[in-house]
Amino acid sequence: KKIGEIRDLSVNYHSLEGETLALKNINFDIYENEIIGIVGPSGCGKSTLLSLISGLIKPTTGHVLINNRLVDKPLKNVGYMFQNDQLFHWRNILRNVTIGLEIQEKLNEDTKAQAKEMLESYGLGDFIESFPSQLSGGMRQRVALIRTLILNPDILLLDEPFSALDYQTRLTIADEIGVILKKEQKTALMVTHDIAEAISMCDRIIILTHRPGTIKEIVDVSLSCE
Ligand code: ADP
Ligand code: ADP
Repeated sequence: KKIGEIRDLSVNYHSLEGETLALKNINFDIYENEIIGIVGPSGCGKSTLLSLISGLIKPTTGHVLINNRLVDKPLKNVGYMFQNDQLFHWRNILRNVTIGLEIQEKLNEDTKAQAKEMLESYGLGDFIESFPSQLSGGMRQRVALIRTLILNPDILLLDEPFSALDYQTRLTIADEIGVILKKEQKTALMVTHDIAEAISMCDRIIILTHRPGTIKEIVDVSLSCE
């Protein structure tokens, strides 16, 4: 089932140095429960594409639709996970996971229990009362993912989610996070520099080239993962 539509998307940045055509004529659809990887050289527009889908910036031409809703500002149904985990060091792990619920005024006994359950099911049950500094980098990324998942977004955007981790941790956590996304049946778009990571985690990979950023190819890798 199709849940997202990216049509004729172009972005022209205006700045003191002049104009930069960052993305030109991008078209693709997003289907339910798929993980799409976005790879390409630095400066090809990967961050710009995620910013558009998250509604943080507006396209110069074209549109983004998620579940038939025009994304022209940040929406609650789009979840975002950053490069580094961005946990709050003064809040314990449970309170880090529930912060989005608090902001959306959805924190109650049920959602709190659900947060605890998710932490337990993903191996963090012993760390509910711990603080971020007491966890490894990989565990903190897992907490950050759970924090985003608990808000039940229609689509999850991951911007180089593992780039702050060392190589060995990166392999393990990439695996774990791929499993979590599949288990929770989430639709996700992930920007990465690492083509091997994209192949192992994603169903489809969009290869961007610069400049301006255009789609070179969309590769279906889901069959190779069965
Ligand atoms: P990537 O994430 O693939 O490295 P970006 O989306 O960050 O690429 O950038 C794409 C192009 O747009 C680059 O040439 C970059 O310098 C330019 N760019 C990105 N953001 C801005 C901005 N806010 N103002 C002007 N140019 C920008
Ligand atoms: P990434 O690590 O994803 O490649 P960058 O380091 O290219 O990100 O960019 C970091 C931030 O700076 C982004 O928010 C991007 O939009 C902005 N940016 C990138 N290039 C420019 C530019 N030429 N002028 C203004 N802002 C820019």
